[in-house]
Amino acid sequence: MITIEQIDSIAKEFEERLGGVTDASSLEALRVEFLGKKGKVTLFLRELGSIPPAERSEFGKRINDLKSRVEFQIAEYSSKLKPVSGKKSDVDWTLPGIQPAAGRLHPLTQMIQKILEIFTRMGFDVVDGREIETEFYNFTALNIPLDHPSRDAFDTFYTRHGNLLRSQTSTVQIRIMEKHKPPLKIVAPGKVYRPDTVDASHSFMFHQIEGLLVDERTTFSDLKGTLAFFLRELFGANTRVRFRPHFFPFTEPSVEVDMSCFNCHGKGCNVCSRTGWIEVLGAGSVHPNVLTAVGISPKKYQGFAFGLGVERMTMLKYGIHDIRYFYENDVRFLNQF
Ligand SMILES: [Zn+2]
Repeated sequence: MITIEQIDSIAKEFEERLGGVTDASSLEALRVEFLGKKGKVTLFLRELGSIPPAERSEFGKRINDLKSRVEFQIAEYSSKLKPVSGKKSDVDWTLPGIQPAAGRLHPLTQMIQKILEIFTRMGFDVVDGREIETEFYNFTALNIPLDHPSRDAFDTFYTRHGNLLRSQTSTVQIRIMEKHKPPLKIVAPGKVYRPDTVDASHSFMFHQIEGLLVDERTTFSDLKGTLAFFLRELFGANTRVRFRPHFFPFTEPSVEVDMSCFNCHGKGCNVCSRTGWIEVLGAGSVHPNVLTAVGISPKKYQGFAFGLGVERMTMLKYGIHDIRYFYENDVRFLNQF
């Protein structure tokens, strides 16, 4: 038969013994001595059955209190124990760590973010547009005549119900100008679709960034300054920019924008086809017909628009020779960015 005195004396013994523990192994020995299968506290619990029912609950409470106190103090003491000096640790802290495989942003996403960051610094707002559009937004409102070849089914994906997958991000210009009055200063990134045969430089889907500025005073030289600043931020401070006359239905006058080759600095190399210049984007003053189509008076307002290909910019910047690498999800390629 156990007595209350025995329980108290075991409790006292445990306290004294714990005070003498100096390392993890003697603490473990103490734990086994009190809480192990044949431990002193465990034996008390086993004998509980032989105690008369009237006193059982009082004894049970005391023994369980003792058990939890011993468990708690062992855990607490264990966390305070310092590793004994001179003893070899199981862990070699000098080994290199195990690096988890971290994901990262796709090179195209990184390039889009970089480009948008430059334009937002110049005060442009980033806006989103839809990928399924109507002929009105993709062509008509952009001053593209009914007989223009780009409207052909060979050049645009049409849906069964007469809508289409946008072939350019210029559609966003129209949607924004319909809803908001000038002054407007936006950039619109997104996917565009064209039924091109996939090869090293073509894909049926790629990314563009459209820019639009409309207000009462903006001139062609503002366009040149804006694009020169942008290209210098992206390709380096020594980048020179030139405009070549071109034709786009939705801008007048229109230009193709070249920058000096970042690889040879104008001397001529493989990157620039030995010309010293690289064609990077299209731009121009917003055509009066486009402003009229959205109810903005071309007599009062003017502005400029530009569009660039994200894949092309990324390929140029990093010397990538095949557009298909972007879409294959090959980590050997993606890991490099
Ligand atoms: Zn070059």
